[in-house]
Amino acid sequence: MVTVSICCKYCGEKERVVKMGKNRTGRPRCLCRACGRTFQTSYQYKAYEAGVKERIVQMSINGSGIRDIARVLQVGTNTVISTLKKKDLDYTGKSGLSKEAQKAGESVHKKG
Ligand SMILES: [Zn+2]
Repeated sequence: MVTVSICCKYCGEKERVVKMGKNRTGRPRCLCRACGRTFQTSYQYKAYEAGVKERIVQMSINGSGIRDIARVLQVGTNTVISTLKKKDLDYTGKSGLSKEAQKAGESVHKKG
């Protein structure tokens, strides 16, 4: 029997993650017994997957546009904009986003 250890997307626990049925689209759901939260290993909407929000911020800092990021990460442009507007997030290791990231989010919002 082959066991595959699944890493919890919230707390990083590997040992105490168990399978917990399937959702409507047939993707398996997992329960982390350490933090008590449920998650999936793959999502229909890419924005829910682990690390996507961090990549949006990193790509924005490196000069990618809103539509570039949306195309590469397969998320919506509104997801990119709303992620960049959340100033209290700590994806970059600093207390807020860079000026460039905030400016990019605002300029697209004005175009409407
Ligand atoms: Zn957990």
